[in-house]
Amino acid sequence: MTQPFLPFTRPSIDEETIAGVAAVLRSGWITTGPQNQAFEAELSKLFGGRTVRSFNSGTATMEIALRLAGVGAGHEVITTPLSWVATANVVLEVGAKPVFVDIDPATRNIDLNRIEAAITPATRAIIPVDLAGLPVDRDRLYAIAQKHNLRVIEDAAQSFGASWRGRAIGSFGDFVSFSFHANKNITSIEGGALVLPADIDVKLCERYRLQGVERIGFDGMEVDVLGGKFNLTDVAARVGLGQLKHLDEFTARRRALVEHYFDSFDMELGCDLPVMDFENCNWHMFQIVLPRDIVRAELMGLLKEKGIGSGVHYPVIHLFKLYRALGWHEGMYPQAERVGAGILTLPLFPAMVNQDVERVCEALSECIRAQRAARLGK
Ligand SMILES: *Cc1c(COP(=O)(O)O)cnc(C)c1O
Repeated sequence: MTQPFLPFTRPSIDEETIAGVAAVLRSGWITTGPQNQAFEAELSKLFGGRTVRSFNSGTATMEIALRLAGVGAGHEVITTPLSWVATANVVLEVGAKPVFVDIDPATRNIDLNRIEAAITPATRAIIPVDLAGLPVDRDRLYAIAQKHNLRVIEDAAQSFGASWRGRAIGSFGDFVSFSFHANKNITSIEGGALVLPADIDVKLCERYRLQGVERIGFDGMEVDVLGGKFNLTDVAARVGLGQLKHLDEFTARRRALVEHYFDSFDMELGCDLPVMDFENCNWHMFQIVLPRDIVRAELMGLLKEKGIGSGVHYPVIHLFKLYRALGWHEGMYPQAERVGAGILTLPLFPAMVNQDVERVCEALSECIRAQRAARLGK
């Protein structure tokens, strides 16, 4: 009997949320309104009462954080080349220059040992990325930022529900940016949230979010800064609210499934497994790095034939055409380039069961062995 296709991720939306969305649609108020207020309040509770503002994407949150941090033309922002391209695109968007720092191949996150060498008088901020939900060492990160008087915009798109030494990511630090894209651990279909540091003007954040508009009295309006169109709909916020109730359960399920991956994985294959962190990481993804002799695209095709989805998160940013045209090239960040060329995301989402994990591990063994056998046979 053929088994159903197992995607690499799938959101879990409960019936109560679906009914709640229908109620919002019938309410007469479908764009930003009471659901957003409730969503922001619930998020703030998760982060120890810090101020949180919702946005229509995790990209918008990062761009607005950069603007609020005063980053613009002539400034440099240090980040990792191994992330979703949004991380660096937002730096270009505000007119600043991304400065990439190679990764630590064990954590696959920015190598903290290399950051200080990349700081120049033009550096204004660091954007650390918690790839797959594994937090960058916040103690070391903030020590560097403080020493050099740099702002931090945490790209925590993947680490919602993760923690650092017992404190929730988002509950401390400078700017913290989350995404609620459909593939993230908690979704609002599309959406994002920005945790604001205490020294930032919340009203300015709100103006950047919506055309720079400030409402005055019943009939007045003023515009004093250039804002964009980054507000979240109430339909989306209602989905997010329904998801938040499951945060602990989703994170626990992901951790349990990953423990099963570690137990079931065939270590003879020669793949690199992620850091085994069951304290801090929210296990947004379970990613392996393939041995150099394996052709990834072909392997993904073989897995697909067996009904198993997989993904690539991510090809390195600096080798995209847009970035090459700005002067980046191969060999600049060798660790990130090697990991980016071999990384593979395996199925992981809360509705999976242990047998799914076993199925993935068996299929991966068969496909890798088949690829090697075919090469020897030639
Ligand atoms: C998803 C993601 C983003 C962007 O979030 P969107 O909501 O898709 O705009 C940024 N950075 C990282 C690391 C992400 O995974």
